Amino acid sequence: MTYDDNNIFAKILRGEIPSENVYENDKVLVFMDIMPRSPGHLLVIPKSKCRNILDIDIEDLHAVIETVQMMAKIVLKALKADGVTIQQFNEAPGGQEVFHLHFHIIPRYSGERMGLPGKMVEDMSALKNQADKIRSLLK
Ligand code: AMP
Repeated sequence: MTYDDNNIFAKILRGEIPSENVYENDKVLVFMDIMPRSPGHLLVIPKSKCRNILDIDIEDLHAVIETVQMMAKIVLKALKADGVTIQQFNEAPGGQEVFHLHFHIIPRYSGERMGLPGKMVEDMSALKNQADKIRSLLK
C-alpha cells in the first residue's frame, strides 16, 4: 500500500484545507476532529508521510505517542472530562478511513455514551471554544 499525497490530512498539513489546530511541533500536529464522537475529540498526526502504524518510522511513532499522552492529560484537564478513549485504526478492514496515521483522543464523561461516527459537528463555535480551552493550557 502506498501513501496518497492527496489524502485529507496531507492537505491539512500543507494548509490547503482549514483545521482547528491546538498544538504542533516539528514532528506532529494536533487538531479537532470535525465529526467528534464526544466534545473535545482530537486527532494527533505525524508530519511524516505514512499511512498508519504499519509503515511509520519508529522515531516518528515515538513523537506521536508522546504527544498522545500529553494531549490526553491536557484535554482531560481543559474540558473536565472523567476519562479518555484512545483509538487508532489500520487499513480499511481495520476501520481506517483516512490513510494518514492518526490517533483519536476522545474525552469521556461519566454516564455519557460516545456519539456515532460520521456526524459533522453542528456547533462550530462550541468546537472553537473547546479548542481555546485546550490551547490555553498549552501556553
Ligand atoms: P478513521 O480513519 O476511521 O480513524 O477516521 C478518520 C477521522 O478523521 C474521523 O473521525 C473523521 O471525523 C476525521 N476527519 C475527516 N476529515 C476531517 C477534517 N477535514 N478535519 C478534521 N477531522 C476530519
